[in-house]
Amino acid sequence: MKDDCLFCKIARGKISSATVYEDSHFRVILDVNPATKGHCLIIPKEHFDNIYDLDAETAGKLFSLATCIARAMRDALGCEGLNIVQNNGEIAGQTVFHFHLHLIPRYKDDGVQLAWTPHESEEAQLEEIRAAIRKAI
Ligand code: AMP
Ligand code: ZN
Repeated sequence: MKDDCLFCKIARGKISSATVYEDSHFRVILDVNPATKGHCLIIPKEHFDNIYDLDAETAGKLFSLATCIARAMRDALGCEGLNIVQNNGEIAGQTVFHFHLHLIPRYKDDGVQLAWTPHESEEAQLEEIRAAIRKAI
């Protein structure tokens, strides 16, 4: 628990939230400023700043829970699709620095924009990048 962290307080029930699910590791809430109807956040109760801090066991449990919540959202909301978004760092759009996963239900003409511009790539450059990441794993 980090004293000045909003999501620590929400996850541990010290600040109220629209909770759709809770267990000993996670709380799932409705985003207070949803991208679309039913936008959910999965929040671990333990504090992790971002994906780099997350341990493998929590990550595994988290994604398993995400599959369950996604199916429930599909059934309850009747959405036609669903995006999973997870922001790390200010430049990537992170505004709350306690790891969380966004589950964003998608509806026809919902106006959500998550698209990027695809760029051309060169084989040599791809190879250099591939090798660098592979070495770092
Ligand atoms: P991110 O930009 O990925 O860090 O996402 C933070 C999300 O938390 C945003 O979508 C906010 O709307 C949401 N949020 C911030 N404060 C609250 C709150 N008190 N209850 C629910 N959602 C919140
Ligand atoms: Zn926290």
